[in-house]
Amino acid sequence: MTYRLIDLSLPLETGLSEPEPVQIERVDHRQGAFLLTQGSDLHADHFPDGLGLSLERIQLTSHSGTHVDAPLHYGPLSEGKRARSIDEMPLDWFFGLALVLDCRSEASSEVVACDELKHAVFSQGLTLEAGDIVFINTGADSLWGTHEYFTSFRGVSLAATEWLLDQGIKVIGVDSFGFDAPFHKMIQASGQGKNGRALWPCHVLGRSREYCQIERLTNLSMLPTHKKFLVSCFPIKLKGCGAGPSRVVAFLEVDHE
Ligand SMILES: [Zn+2]
Repeated sequence: MTYRLIDLSLPLETGLSEPEPVQIERVDHRQGAFLLTQGSDLHADHFPDGLGLSLERIQLTSHSGTHVDAPLHYGPLSEGKRARSIDEMPLDWFFGLALVLDCRSEASSEVVACDELKHAVFSQGLTLEAGDIVFINTGADSLWGTHEYFTSFRGVSLAATEWLLDQGIKVIGVDSFGFDAPFHKMIQASGQGKNGRALWPCHVLGRSREYCQIERLTNLSMLPTHKKFLVSCFPIKLKGCGAGPSRVVAFLEVDHE
């Protein structure tokens, strides 16, 4: 079988769309030659052309770029047990059949409703099976690289998320900055904090029902809408952390004529 690979990840880079900027300090080949010869009898010029090996020192959060949220992110407990960190999640959650639900809407800037999600499944001729990876395409990635990326997206409703979990889905991905509604909308919905249940409801749901979210996907419009496809979305193995960046890739079967 031959596959066409589609990259569904954003680059990890310094830009306007990260709340805590990714910082990359580059050690070039010349500096690398000095670094590698420190404390030895060698000299930087002993390297061919005086050039050693480069490296980068990076500073980022576990939620920088396209990443997978683990139950530990949502709270200390999940389903009554200690919430699992990203390195403890089963690998088979992150490799398998996936589908994308088209929830791009010119008309709505509200969270994706349960009926809307069910309608997408039906109208796209799909059926959900336990263990499927579900992506929700809202078109929010078009704002990546701007400040609006933080504030102008839909997010997913609690009811829609609960319904997906009811179908046995364990991994749900979105193309927006966050899985829940934008921060300013949640504050408003909470009556300036009086109703705490309006704050990150889908994240908090993970305290009673164990699941993983993928945030900040891109290129979901390049995926087929009427059939499932293979996806790999392994998070990097950050010990004891609540999330991990992931290179999310779809494998589309190429038909041979
Ligand atoms: Zn996150």
